[in-house]
Amino acid sequence: MSDACATCNGLCCYDVIVRITGYDAWRIKRAQALEFSQFVTIGADTPTGPGAFLIDGERHALYLGKNAENARACTFLMHLPGEIRRCGIYAERPRVCAVYPMTFTNGSVALRSDIRCEASNWNMATITYPYWRRNLLEHLFESHLYGLVAERWNESSAPSGGTLPQYYAYVERCFDAIDARRSEIGKESFDNLVLHWQQAVDESATARVKSFLADVEGICTLELTVCSSKT
Ligand code: SF4
Ligand code: SF4
Repeated sequence: MSDACATCNGLCCYDVIVRITGYDAWRIKRAQALEFSQFVTIGADTPTGPGAFLIDGERHALYLGKNAENARACTFLMHLPGEIRRCGIYAERPRVCAVYPMTFTNGSVALRSDIRCEASNWNMATITYPYWRRNLLEHLFESHLYGLVAERWNESSAPSGGTLPQYYAYVERCFDAIDARRSEIGKESFDNLVLHWQQAVDESATARVKSFLADVEGICTLELTVCSSKT
């Protein structure tokens, strides 16, 4: 946690509609032993953000739910004594939370222009650029993976009418398999893949990225088949 965040009351966890990926939801579900329906809300797709999916012909997106007693606060925001607020799922928080308040501007790490805290809290001369760059790239990569998962669902015309529980089950199975593939590849190789997926350094890196994305497509196709055969 940055020094700025340590003394802040989690302003960015208030009044913000946090759009997440299926990979985020899968990670949180697994770590917290929750069902998607306990912390995810679905809402209309917005022009930005990953993975719009079709239910009943309408495009939807996944968002973090809000606290039942405080509609402004994220469902995972802990309210501690002394007006201190902290993320209750820090290690598994969505990538979009982990990269906040940074973004890429012309390929460089930069402060977002719409941040909830004071820009002066962030001394860009002292931030750890490789840390933020790595997080931003992972966020983009996982968003891309989730985009593929949702696209395959949409292209398949949402099997059997495509209910929300079916979509959640499909997403879960896809990310079970994608994460297993990620483990097989190994951390170092996967880190390289993430670092170079948009700007491959050589032909072999390009081939590794293509191969992984082809595996993801294959996983989606297989899981759609399983989904269809169960209905
Ligand atoms: S990113 Fe900004 S608003 Fe969010 S906790 Fe840190 S200092 Fe506060
Ligand atoms: S998941 Fe954590 S960091 Fe993200 S909005 Fe909720 S409380 Fe804040």
